[in-house]
Amino acid sequence: MPKLSGRLVIATHNAGKLREIGALLAPYGVDCVSAGELGLPEPAETGTTFVENALIKAHAAAQASGLPALADDSGLCVAALGGRPGVYTADWAERQWFEGETGRDWYLAMGKVEGLLAELGPQADRSAHFACVLALAWPDGREAVYEGRVEGALVWPPRGSRGFGYDPAFVAKGDTQTFAEIDPEVKHRISHRADAFARLVAGQFG
Ligand code: IMP
Repeated sequence: MPKLSGRLVIATHNAGKLREIGALLAPYGVDCVSAGELGLPEPAETGTTFVENALIKAHAAAQASGLPALADDSGLCVAALGGRPGVYTADWAERQWFEGETGRDWYLAMGKVEGLLAELGPQADRSAHFACVLALAWPDGREAVYEGRVEGALVWPPRGSRGFGYDPAFVAKGDTQTFAEIDPEVKHRISHRADAFARLVAGQFG
């Protein structure tokens, strides 16, 4: 498997993700540039798993740029719901605000999950995990995949104002506070993304 060095395309159009990933990889001599900065098109995420979607994005960016590329895909998987929302985690937050105007409403998304758990009754298994898949692809078609996760359980009502997405409804195993209540530095140490990055670093630079 080729080892990473030099320039790496981060297959995201999100400046925040680029900054976060760039900082994580800087100590290893990797110089990150985003797909957005290079004007690369965003492929449709047509996969049914995190691995498929991360590979679609990484290969598309590697082919279009001629450089190695890194993509991530992540979401929340609820055991009692057969792993849903899974790859559709962000979609569950889509809502129509005004005519023709759409946006994401995380309270709505957490409420949908809670509604489905409520249908299962008060004894429903509330365990869930966040998953993060990092996919690396090279222009010659080679690839490497690293999967991270953090186990926990869902609480209702949501608590806390830090974090994003489903953080206010998620308590990691062994904790009492939600991901939106704990110190963000603690979250970044124990999160699904941290786990996936540790695996990538071990695989590529270990
Ligand atoms: P994507 O990988 O950027 O497509 O993100 C998928 C969705 O999963 C996000 O929009 C978030 O709602 C959710 N998600 C991923 N990671 C986290 C997290 O650390 N906390 C809360 N929600 C998350």
